[in-house]
Amino acid sequence: MENQKLTLDQIVSLAKRRGFIFQSSEIYGGMGACWDYGPLGVELKQNVKNCWWDFMVRAREDITGMDGSILMHPEIWVASGHVAGFHDPLSDCKDCKVRIRPDQHTVVAVRDDAGKAILVASFETEDPEEAVRECKEKFGQELNAVPEPSYVTHSMEEKLGPCPNCGGELTEPRQFNLMFKTHVGPLEDSSSLVYLRPETAQAIFVNFRNVQQTTRLRIPFGIAQMGKAFRNEIVTKAFIFRSREFEQMEMQYFIPPDEDEKWYEYWREIRFNYYTDILGIPKKDLQWAPHPPEKLAHYAKAAADVTFRFPMGWQEIEGVHNRGDFDLSQHTKHSGKDMSYRDPVSNTTYVPKVIETSAGVDRSVLMALCAAYAEVPEIGEGHKREMRSVLQFHPRVAPVSVAVFPLSKKDELIDPARRLEADLREASFRTAFDVTGAIGKRYRRQDEIGTPFCVTLDFDSLQDQAVTIRHRDTMEQDRVSIDRVAEALHNKIRSW
Ligand code: ATP
Repeated sequence: MENQKLTLDQIVSLAKRRGFIFQSSEIYGGMGACWDYGPLGVELKQNVKNCWWDFMVRAREDITGMDGSILMHPEIWVASGHVAGFHDPLSDCKDCKVRIRPDQHTVVAVRDDAGKAILVASFETEDPEEAVRECKEKFGQELNAVPEPSYVTHSMEEKLGPCPNCGGELTEPRQFNLMFKTHVGPLEDSSSLVYLRPETAQAIFVNFRNVQQTTRLRIPFGIAQMGKAFRNEIVTKAFIFRSREFEQMEMQYFIPPDEDEKWYEYWREIRFNYYTDILGIPKKDLQWAPHPPEKLAHYAKAAADVTFRFPMGWQEIEGVHNRGDFDLSQHTKHSGKDMSYRDPVSNTTYVPKVIETSAGVDRSVLMALCAAYAEVPEIGEGHKREMRSVLQFHPRVAPVSVAVFPLSKKDELIDPARRLEADLREASFRTAFDVTGAIGKRYRRQDEIGTPFCVTLDFDSLQDQAVTIRHRDTMEQDRVSIDRVAEALHNKIRSW
């Protein structure tokens, strides 16, 4: 489905209805910006993580994995710059009290052909084109009467605009540190203060020597990790896109000091193609957003985001960063431990530079849901066919890869169908088994959760030892010998 027409509400409601994602602590009124993955959601999320781990770690000789702890020595966050610099600007509306991040808003001023100001409004996007689009959508009727309107945009960071909610006056931005604090041990004083990690990357940096010495990997090589990260985000709309507890998939690639530009380009290409080739995201829905020099993070020499066309506009799913030797040098300074590397062949010693690829698990899940969502006409006769929703997941990420249906509830069909399901499970397919309702209904249930294949065993199967494989997106049906179903499905997935 074209994402412009898709709304986030459609995704939220499907995700809840079919058990992908629930509001955390729902029966207590919910916990802001925290989400629980239900039975299908956890499978989807696990598949997204497996794709990344297989692609980044298992398929490569030059990348190894690790899993660091969430609580780390507090000095790490001083060294990394997070204590001093991990802030977001925060403004409050003096009238409606809404809290916003001005750096994520754009102001649009509309003038008529004589240059007279017609209206000024602010929108929650950093993209000027998106802001103009939203402005036209919101004030369409008023603007229809304006002769040749012109639209001037500027970021709210340069000049604070009106409140996006009520048009009221905003307070000057204050800086707000995003790290969650907690205490270790029984005493809650400053000596026991620790932080929940706001990124997984630092565990990799502080273990650089441990990993290099135990694996004896030679530079260039990478260390990958995935796990929870926590940020006390100020504004947390857009479902799982921005939450306070989320998962990251990060890889730090350690390189010689004079090779950063080459490897930065290399990783940009690899990571962009990953989304199209491995997760099956359409290329037209992905684009790069390079960080302008004045917006680079404190550690970065160059950075660019892979962005996806979400229903709320183009937004980041992954950042590729040239971090230079900032982190290893900082940890040498703060820990007193030498973090340099001695190349065994050239005998040179240096502090490696780092290219980082940093992706969000939850944002990838949301992207997979949005990219897969389609509305297709109801199967059946007649011209008053209603639309129904289908998730056209790539088989690699689909929570269920194949559903097995015996045509009737008779034991003579149920038993062989159960055997087929068990065989498919053993062949590593994620299976479902459904005996209830007409076959058409069963197909629709699987279509809505994104199962790419359904296999039906009917009374003819008892004679010809064959079953029908039905394909979700084409609705085509193939008759395949029962002992070749796994092979046929593997072939279909390989050529997807
Ligand atoms: P944003 O500008 O959207 O806040 P960021 O630039 O701060 O993101 P990074 O620090 O580069 O993000 O983090 C790397 C990845 O981690 C992001 O691309 C995103 O996928 C994920 N991520 C970061 N913050 C959140 C969050 N609050 N909720 C969900 N995922 C997040």
